Amino acid sequence: MQIDFITIFPDFFRGPLDYGIIRRAREAGLVKIEVRDLRVHTRDRHRTVDDRPFGGGEGMVLKPEPLFECVESLKVAPREERAAARQSVVLLSAQGLRFDQALAAELAELDRLVLICGRYEGVDERVGTHLADREISIGDYVLSGGELGAAVIADTVVRLIPGAVGNEASTRQESFFAGQEINGSDSKVEDAHSAPSQGSVAQGRLRPSTPDSTCGSGGLLDYPHYTRPAEFRGMKVPEVLVNGNHEEIRRWRRRSALEKTLRNRPDLLDQARLSEEDRDLLAEIAASAEQ
Ligand code: SAM
Repeated sequence: MQIDFITIFPDFFRGPLDYGIIRRAREAGLVKIEVRDLRVHTRDRHRTVDDRPFGGGEGMVLKPEPLFECVESLKVAPREERAAARQSVVLLSAQGLRFDQALAAELAELDRLVLICGRYEGVDERVGTHLADREISIGDYVLSGGELGAAVIADTVVRLIPGAVGNEASTRQESFFAGQEINGSDSKVEDAHSAPSQGSVAQGRLRPSTPDSTCGSGGLLDYPHYTRPAEFRGMKVPEVLVNGNHEEIRRWRRRSALEKTLRNRPDLLDQARLSEEDRDLLAEIAASAEQ
């Protein structure tokens, strides 16, 4: 996969993409990352990328010409052929489709992802309507520029590329994972979960988990993790995790994930496909809350 960032601040990306999983994925040749300086595609002495808005109003707007020329210089497929070519040009925008794990899984299927970072008051609307395939927002708040959002998207997408995360099973148990999993006490492989995303998105893309996966998240928040020491300043690791009974550990983790999701993100429960066992556990949780 290749990811291109288009930005007026190319140095911004020194750092966020040079560590950990992304760095290793780059070194392993799983992803190629290119940062494109938008000002290269200006024609005037001052390398102007912005101008005042038509109709008046606050701030400056990124001009269309450098952005169109920059994307064209990347030799991506024409807009109408991009999906078939497994390419996408994305404009970062607070007004866009909200980014989530399912959309990340869809983007991770691409061969080429171009991320356009806006600045100032935003980007000439023609970029969104005629150049980009979609606008994506990383959340309901306004950033100063698209660079942080683009880095968030790149990080999330790259770790879904097969081979990027050493232990692929770990991505299946993570919060929001919506692919196939082993779920329930009979370890029956459930169908892919419908992804809790707002757009037309792919189902989770990872292969069905193997029996070593103790608990696929199935769209729930992740369960709590503990490591050594078993007791720290009087705070003990739950007994069940050190008793070596795998079935009890699996059940405890599932119950904890349900509890945490109910507490912090009850909206996710509506979309998660719950097993019989999950429903029993939720009933248990509700009963213990009433005591
Ligand atoms: N006037 C715009 C609005 O109210 O929606 C905000 C412009 S913002 C100051 C400048 C740039 O930051 C945007 O063009 C976009 O690229 C980026 N940006 C801001 N918030 C974002 C978000 N939540 N998600 C993704 N990109 C964002």
